[in-house]
Amino acid sequence: MRELIPMPRSYFIRVRCPKCGNEQITFSHASRIVRCGVCEEILARPRGGRAEILAPQMERLGVRT
Ligand SMILES: [Zn+2]
Repeated sequence: MRELIPMPRSYFIRVRCPKCGNEQITFSHASRIVRCGVCEEILARPRGGRAEILAPQMERLGVRT
Protein backbone atom coordinates (compact mmCIF):
# COMPACT_ATOMS: atom_id res chain seq x y z
CA MET A 1 0.00 0.00 0.00
CA ARG A 2 1.31 3.37 -1.00
CA GLU A 3 1.60 5.86 1.81
CA LEU A 4 1.30 9.57 1.54
CA ILE A 5 4.75 10.94 2.23
CA PRO A 6 4.62 14.40 3.75
CA MET A 7 6.75 16.77 1.76
CA PRO A 8 8.87 19.32 3.58
CA ARG A 9 7.46 22.82 3.64
CA SER A 10 4.13 21.68 2.35
CA TYR A 11 0.95 23.15 3.71
CA PHE A 12 -2.69 23.63 3.04
CA ILE A 13 -3.95 26.97 1.96
CA ARG A 14 -7.33 28.61 1.83
CA VAL A 15 -7.93 30.35 -1.45
CA ARG A 16 -10.78 32.41 -2.78
CA CYS A 17 -12.02 31.93 -6.28
CA PRO A 18 -11.51 35.22 -8.14
CA LYS A 19 -14.54 34.53 -10.26
CA CYS A 20 -17.31 33.57 -7.82
CA GLY A 21 -15.80 34.21 -4.37
CA ASN A 22 -16.05 30.60 -3.23
CA GLU A 23 -13.42 29.72 -0.64
CA GLN A 24 -11.85 26.32 -0.52
CA ILE A 25 -8.79 24.53 0.77
CA THR A 26 -6.05 23.39 -1.55
CA PHE A 27 -2.65 21.81 -1.06
CA SER A 28 0.55 23.76 -1.63
CA HIS A 29 1.99 20.89 -3.65
CA ALA A 30 -1.12 19.87 -5.55
CA SER A 31 -0.16 17.36 -8.20
CA ARG A 32 -3.07 18.09 -10.45
CA ILE A 33 -5.11 21.09 -11.44
CA VAL A 34 -7.34 22.40 -8.67
CA ARG A 35 -10.65 23.81 -9.82
CA CYS A 36 -13.23 25.84 -7.97
CA GLY A 37 -15.94 23.52 -6.69
CA VAL A 38 -18.61 25.98 -7.75
CA CYS A 39 -17.66 27.50 -11.10
CA GLU A 40 -14.67 25.31 -12.11
CA GLU A 41 -12.28 28.22 -12.42
CA ILE A 42 -8.70 26.93 -12.19
CA LEU A 43 -7.32 27.91 -8.78
CA ALA A 44 -3.98 26.10 -8.82
CA ARG A 45 -1.94 24.04 -11.19
CA PRO A 46 1.00 21.70 -10.65
CA ARG A 47 4.44 22.92 -11.53
CA GLY A 48 6.72 20.06 -10.54
CA GLY A 49 6.87 20.58 -6.80
CA ARG A 50 5.04 23.49 -5.34
CA ALA A 51 1.84 24.23 -7.17
CA GLU A 52 1.27 27.55 -8.81
CA ILE A 53 -1.59 29.16 -6.92
CA LEU A 54 -3.64 31.32 -9.26
CA ALA A 55 -6.26 32.50 -6.79
CA PRO A 56 -5.91 35.01 -3.94
CA GLN A 57 -4.52 33.24 -0.89
CA MET A 58 -6.55 33.91 2.22
CA GLU A 59 -4.90 31.87 4.93
CA ARG A 60 -2.14 29.33 5.29
CA LEU A 61 -3.04 26.28 7.34
CA GLY A 62 -0.57 24.01 9.05
CA VAL A 63 -0.28 20.41 8.00
CA ARG A 64 -1.53 18.07 10.64
CA THR A 65 0.89 15.24 11.29
ZN1 LIG B 1 -15.54 29.87 -8.50
